Amino acid sequence: MSNPVQKFKFPTAEEITRDWGERCPDVDQDCGCCQMWNTFDLLAAKDAELAKLREALNRQADNMAFVINHVTLPGQWLEKFMVELDADRSALNQGASDA
Ligand SMILES: [Zn+2]
Repeated sequence: MSNPVQKFKFPTAEEITRDWGERCPDVDQDCGCCQMWNTFDLLAAKDAELAKLREALNRQADNMAFVINHVTLPGQWLEKFMVELDADRSALNQGASDA
């Protein structure tokens, strides 16, 4: 699955400092440097939220796997649940490695 949009990486703090400079002492919305740092902060906050979400989902997947393995289910359900769990977990870990 190649999505060119996902390949875009917002600059790191080091790159912003190198290309735009340190944070200005007074934030000015018309300043390019301030806009870069504002966006950097917003993205960092989103990344932190996503990391928490991934952690929670991985924990729920573990719980679900435990239940599936300890409850008697009709074979076709068991297989369906395990396949979906594996698919969700790979998607989750793929997303984590992209971040
Ligand atoms: Zn500025």
